[in-house]
Amino acid sequence: MDQNEILVNCSFCNVEIPCPKNIRYQKHSCIDCFKKLKKNPPENINKIHVAIPKEKIEQMVPEITIQMIMQEVFPKFWKEEKKKLKEMPRKEAVEYAFATGAGSLISLMEELNKEERKFFRKSQNSK
Ligand SMILES: [Zn+2]
Repeated sequence: MDQNEILVNCSFCNVEIPCPKNIRYQKHSCIDCFKKLKKNPPENINKIHVAIPKEKIEQMVPEITIQMIMQEVFPKFWKEEKKKLKEMPRKEAVEYAFATGAGSLISLMEELNKEERKFFRKSQNSK
């Protein structure tokens, strides 16, 4: 645990988990509870701080990113483009959806990188 972290309790199983000092969340979740939560996500799942062990972050990024796209980007895309997609030939529609998905993935990755840098700077500053 580094000096920018404090110990909090998982809101679901009460186990002690580290949480960055400069992040204020009402709920915390350990990685095991979060995995269970993901199967039946509560509405406010984005507002829960999840303590992901550092060594697991990298291997979880693709999974989390794809999940974010399917839960947040896809429903919006489907709602807005449904009509257009139905009128397209099937291959064209799939190509269009695929390209849009790839585009969202790129912008989401850029977003995440920015967040990471912001967070890194913040923790540097608080030393
Ligand atoms: Zn827990």
